[in-house]
Amino acid sequence: MKVDLHVHTTASDGLLSPKDILAKAKDSGLNTLAIADHDTIDGIEEGIKAAKEKGIRLIPALEISARHEKQVHILGYFVDYTDPKFQSFVNKLKNSREERNEKMLKKLENFGFHITMEELKANAQGNIGRPHIADIMVKKGYVSNFGEAFEKYIGNGKPCYVPKERPDIRKSIEIIKKYKGVPVLAHPKYTFLENEELENFVAYLSDIGLGGLEVFYSKHSKEEESQYLKLAEKYSLVPTAGSDYHREGDAFGMELKKEYLEKLLSLQTL
Ligand code: AMP
Ligand code: ZN
Ligand code: FE
Ligand code: FE
Repeated sequence: MKVDLHVHTTASDGLLSPKDILAKAKDSGLNTLAIADHDTIDGIEEGIKAAKEKGIRLIPALEISARHEKQVHILGYFVDYTDPKFQSFVNKLKNSREERNEKMLKKLENFGFHITMEELKANAQGNIGRPHIADIMVKKGYVSNFGEAFEKYIGNGKPCYVPKERPDIRKSIEIIKKYKGVPVLAHPKYTFLENEELENFVAYLSDIGLGGLEVFYSKHSKEEESQYLKLAEKYSLVPTAGSDYHREGDAFGMELKKEYLEKLLSLQTL
């Protein structure tokens, strides 16, 4: 099946609106799409409307940046995005981003880079993050390209980086489950854990309620895929597939066995 269970829209740091990403999904012959924006569900309603018009299955989702030593991303599929209590949880994540952006701009100021919150907001429609900052740095000639902004200034651990205040991983999984979602570990590659360490981590997450593993990811090698697939099988986690599409030039659309997609769909309780 051609699906994509991990794409971003203008509701966070993607460059296409939910409507446009559904048009892209239709053009690419996808059967199922999940909008999984960072810490927000603001793109879902528009996405669902467009999905109906295009005849594509849209899974409501989000991608929570959770705290756990380093950062870990947890996808939540089928979450009840209409529940006011869930919306209030998500809004808190948004507010913590806002404070963090202000802190990063202050640090950049110390390097002689002047960027105001107004400029940042003018260049973004949804949840603002580091990619928006990087874009402005390029535009203003502070760095010569997007990657350089991260390598020198705003990448993890770099001088202008400020970590977000984050729910821990257990809380993130609990919340997703409480609001009828299925928690899935996004891009296991970026846990930067390998072999036994990765297995212990996956075993722990599965103990606390993880439902799936993003085995098929646009930046996983074949070896990584097969390693993660084994883990998914061993710990009874559904293998999922996502590109993490943000902008033109990124991979889009993934192959996923019908049985895996059906398994994921069968976990939907709402
Ligand atoms: P934020 O949610 O504001 O912390 O920003 C995270 C986003 O920044 C990720 O989803 C990536 O799109 C981007 N990003 C993080 N680190 C890098 C990097 N080293 N190079 C390029 N993009 C990055
Ligand atoms: Zn992103
Ligand atoms: Fe992610
Ligand atoms: Fe993502």
